[in-house]
Amino acid sequence: MKPVKVGICGLGTVGSGSFNILRNNAEEITRRVGRSIVIEQVGARRDNDMCDLTGVDVTRDIFDVVANPEIDIVIELIGGTTMAKELVLQAIENGKHVVTANKALIAVHGNEIFARAQEKGVMVAFEAAVAGGIPIIKTLREGLSANRIDWLAGIINGTGNFIMTEMSEKNRPFSDVLAEAQALGYAEADPTFDVEGIDAAHKLTILASIAFGIPLQFEKTYTEGISDITAEDVGFANDLGYSIKHLGISRRTEQGIELRVHPTLISKKQLLANVNGVMNAVMVKGDAVGPTLTYGAGAGGLPTGSSVVADVIDVARTLTADPDNRVPHLAFQANSLSDLQVLSVEEIESGYFLNMSIEDKAGVLANITQILSKNGISIESLIQREREGSDLVPLVVMTHIVKERNMNAAISEIEALSEISGKVQRIRVEHLV
Ligand code: NAP
Repeated sequence: MKPVKVGICGLGTVGSGSFNILRNNAEEITRRVGRSIVIEQVGARRDNDMCDLTGVDVTRDIFDVVANPEIDIVIELIGGTTMAKELVLQAIENGKHVVTANKALIAVHGNEIFARAQEKGVMVAFEAAVAGGIPIIKTLREGLSANRIDWLAGIINGTGNFIMTEMSEKNRPFSDVLAEAQALGYAEADPTFDVEGIDAAHKLTILASIAFGIPLQFEKTYTEGISDITAEDVGFANDLGYSIKHLGISRRTEQGIELRVHPTLISKKQLLANVNGVMNAVMVKGDAVGPTLTYGAGAGGLPTGSSVVADVIDVARTLTADPDNRVPHLAFQANSLSDLQVLSVEEIESGYFLNMSIEDKAGVLANITQILSKNGISIESLIQREREGSDLVPLVVMTHIVKERNMNAAISEIEALSEISGKVQRIRVEHLV
């Protein structure tokens, strides 16, 4: 059979990893696919010493790749959402299949891209866009396709997990660990996307669409970062038997779909609580299979390249298949996506960990418990400790499950008390059952 010809646009970390896997594992890949996969052209702005480009057709203009009539599959690895969108739509227009690792592009423009791809009868594959080397999209879309998914929860940003792990294991402050993550090359110079949860929200948006058959709705994903978590919060959580993890959670409820990224207390007995450092993991609960957990490297050239090349292999295998019967982009047929609404965060239900500074005098605790009770919130446990050299003492309250709207009302009332200093730190608690 004729070889399948690919063109790689962008030869950075993931581009180089994918190039080297396609080259180094070529023989094995041919045995798997039944035909060889050849790198026909590479679009790169500059020379690259991570790949041996001898004999490779390298162009400085990535749009040459999408216009190249020899190329069957365009691999987009430049990142960003402006030029990448233009490139991908142009590739689709030219009848080419697309493989991408670009979560921002898929989360924000995926609906438009998939609609165009459907019209043109081409595939757009994006396994590497979520959790790098972990095949979570394939797991959800194919391996678990018999299930009605109840919920999923994931550690889907390695930088955030590295920071939370260091804070927890070494009792270090956030800013200190962030500086180290930047020095180690885990965090970008501008770490906003990682620490404020935007990157995780892109990935969660994609996972939720595939799990529940809803259009991509990044703008409705509730996003809260980890930059306000203190070493004290981590210490108290630890004492109570919990780890704080930056989780992406999506759950089907009777009212609609929860879609939220925020710091979360989870019991240390959960496997997910023991996913440390830059590693990623996603738990999925299906009605038939029960809870499942996938774990692995969420970033890096070779792990992410592993997912990119698996998508290339997938596309190559199905090139001759009937386009109407291919696995749909979002796992459900495009004309039967559900209009289940994504819930506002006020509608979600969760347990809460509250950490506040209160004056050390009689009656304050009674005022706080009264406010909680008035708002329908019952207390699971409570810790009050002395703080040397201060009239203020920390008070930590763990609550049973309650609606976020009630908790917002209670926190506003507590923060208005004259005996409370500053804001109430609120971290949600998940039992993941
Ligand atoms: P990267 O190392 O910055 O690589 C991007 C490459 O694209 C750079 O070599 C850049 O060239 C090139 N590029 C950008 N615009 C170009 C243009 N107009 N013409 C030619 N080349 C252009 O980024 P990366 O980490 O590989 O990420 C690529 C994609 O994979 C992103 O969408 C990212 O979100 C996703 N991803 C990355 C990881 C990871 O572990 N890194 C994991 C999962 C997903 P210059 O060097 O000249 O700017």
